[in-house]
Amino acid sequence: MESETLKLLTTLIAKPSITPDDAGCQQLLIERLSAIGFECETMVFGDVTNLWARRGQSSPLLAFIGHTDVVPTGPLDEWHSDPFKPEIRDGLLYGRGAADMKSGIAAMVTACEQFVKSNADHRGSIALLITSDEEGPSIDGTVKVVEALEARGEKIDWALVGEPSSSIELGDVVKNGRRGSINAILTVHGVQGHVAYPQLADNPVHRVMPALDQLAALSWDNGNEFFPATSFQISNMNAGTGVANVIPGQVEIHFNLRYSTELDDQQIIETTEAILKQYELDYSIEWSLSGYPFLTAEGELVEAAQQSIKQVTGIDTELSTAGGTSDGRFIAPTGAQVLELGPVNESIHKINEHVRVSDLDKLSAIYQGILEKLLP
Ligand SMILES: [Zn+2]
Repeated sequence: MESETLKLLTTLIAKPSITPDDAGCQQLLIERLSAIGFECETMVFGDVTNLWARRGQSSPLLAFIGHTDVVPTGPLDEWHSDPFKPEIRDGLLYGRGAADMKSGIAAMVTACEQFVKSNADHRGSIALLITSDEEGPSIDGTVKVVEALEARGEKIDWALVGEPSSSIELGDVVKNGRRGSINAILTVHGVQGHVAYPQLADNPVHRVMPALDQLAALSWDNGNEFFPATSFQISNMNAGTGVANVIPGQVEIHFNLRYSTELDDQQIIETTEAILKQYELDYSIEWSLSGYPFLTAEGELVEAAQQSIKQVTGIDTELSTAGGTSDGRFIAPTGAQVLELGPVNESIHKINEHVRVSDLDKLSAIYQGILEKLLP
């Protein structure tokens, strides 16, 4: 018998939903979920289509979180098969979105279908929050849906994000938090001039170097049980006119901090600006926060996931806060417990992205097990 999760996944991969185009994926989900008693609400913000599907009125509310959009394919001639024509070779299903994260979405839907079959009168509510803007700017996606839910008092208790969290085997790693991420663009002003007459100029590159050295060498914190130490990285640095005899008038430096829960964005800003002031720089700085750190150290959701993974795969899962940002960052501030659990992430965003076919039914069974534990 062919796996229902595999069937749904191949249909989803065949829809070329490159951010922010949903390409009809959510319509397919609406048909499947409406058939088992979900109320489906499409929320369009800008050019982004989002789906909020909910079954039940009462709390607690367990919401599966996912995205239908995928990243671009990259050079097509490097793919061994068409990225939007899913193909199985040696037990692996190839296609863009196979791992990130249409397999997670397919498994959520089939898990709900199986669960509802034997638990039509489950307690609380189940929801799916699906966006088509996770891989892009993430401005009109999950963050806006969460705002809309908050505004009408709809509260998520447990958020299960279907992003590919596993490292080598399905279920070996779940993500129970993320570091915060903050960006800055620092512009230091000097006076442009001839390199032969430095006394008539003021070189901003020379001025900023000791400050950057201090920032890069600074021990911001030591991290904690769940997070590595905060790290400061310069990503871009630009100055100069391109010729050899001109002292530049300004230098622009972009940097990012991935930070632990030992710090907050205000402390980072204050510490940085205190160092810049110490060197009496003429500067301007623009900060942008791309995500607060969050942590679900323990609780019913973590426990249910650990047990369900153990039952389905035999693995004792590891909790991790490593990796890039995810939409979990938008849900955690509402007070929800947030956990990411999905397939192996080794091929995500790459050429020849794939997922192990035998993991699909297991992932669905893990999600179903979590539903059974939390909403019996
Ligand atoms: Zn993803």
